[in-house]
Amino acid sequence: MTAAAVTLADVLAARRVIRGAAVRTPLIPSAFLSKVAGREVHLKLESLQPIGSFKIRGALNAVAALPPGTKGVTCCSTGNHGRGVAFAAARRGLRAVVCMSSLVPANKVGAIRALGAETRIVGGSQDEALAVSARLVAEEGLVEVPPFDAPEVVAGQGTVGLEIAEDLPEVGTILVPLSGGGLAAGIGVALKAVNPRARLVGVSMERGAAMHAAVAAGRPVPVEELPSLADSLGGGLGPENRLTFALCHDLLDEIVLVSEAEIYRAMQTLYFEEQIVAEGAAAVGVAALSRAGLRGPVAIVVTGRNVDMEAFTRIVTGRPVRLGDETLEGSVYAP
Ligand SMILES: *Cc1c(COP(=O)(O)O)cnc(C)c1O
Repeated sequence: MTAAAVTLADVLAARRVIRGAAVRTPLIPSAFLSKVAGREVHLKLESLQPIGSFKIRGALNAVAALPPGTKGVTCCSTGNHGRGVAFAAARRGLRAVVCMSSLVPANKVGAIRALGAETRIVGGSQDEALAVSARLVAEEGLVEVPPFDAPEVVAGQGTVGLEIAEDLPEVGTILVPLSGGGLAAGIGVALKAVNPRARLVGVSMERGAAMHAAVAAGRPVPVEELPSLADSLGGGLGPENRLTFALCHDLLDEIVLVSEAEIYRAMQTLYFEEQIVAEGAAAVGVAALSRAGLRGPVAIVVTGRNVDMEAFTRIVTGRPVRLGDETLEGSVYAP
């Protein structure tokens, strides 16, 4: 498996497919973060997508690639991918069944149902949801749309990188939230094709950073899933990872890990300095800004806005938040 498994041509083709349904999001300069970093810093606002995250891009591209006569689609998801698949399936008039664990918050389940998809809430883990999705493939002839490890998904997410490179051709560093690596791999393919010297930095939370552990071990390894403010970055790479591990291994220049306290603070920073509502996973790039190796102008991908608003309100008012059995101490924002 080499990085050539997805090419710039695939990303360019994906852009034509998703045009009109996914938004070409703005890249806005941040005066505050530019001052902090001592260089130009821009924010790529994927939080403005119709479903509240960039996952719409890969889902639209993957669903569009299914052959005529496809009976329907299924996936397992912690929320955002399921919403993307539900959105893309509805546009094609396809049945969609999204399998989730009982840990997925009610607001995310409700948003998926509102798009007309069926939901199956099964057990307490991603693995159980994946097993149900696999059974739907075998028994009902549905097609699985993986959350990251598929060429169409990687190419779709890569359109984010294409847009950044067009809007900021001199970009020197892109900071990308990193979980299964579909987004980082896609951006890497697009970025390095047009600007080979640019740095690609993946950012994960300290708790359960699957790609970081895999790169360190030289192969995907199991990681413990722990409650995190960056809930959308949870889950493993899968033991049979075909694509994103190899691509991220080849294309990422660095992986930075950030603490829960740093994510909390970055969510406050985006809110008070830029008036942006970002979920924890989307704020990790801002959290890593002062620690990542930077070159030239920087673009930070703000990946989504699908945050539980009660937790968000607690964070912006400086109150403590629950993370499983633990409590994360809060503090009131002061620049
Ligand atoms: C899925 C997701 C990510 C991580 O994307 P991967 O392709 O799995 O690395 C980051 N942020 C948000 C908001 C997400 O939903």
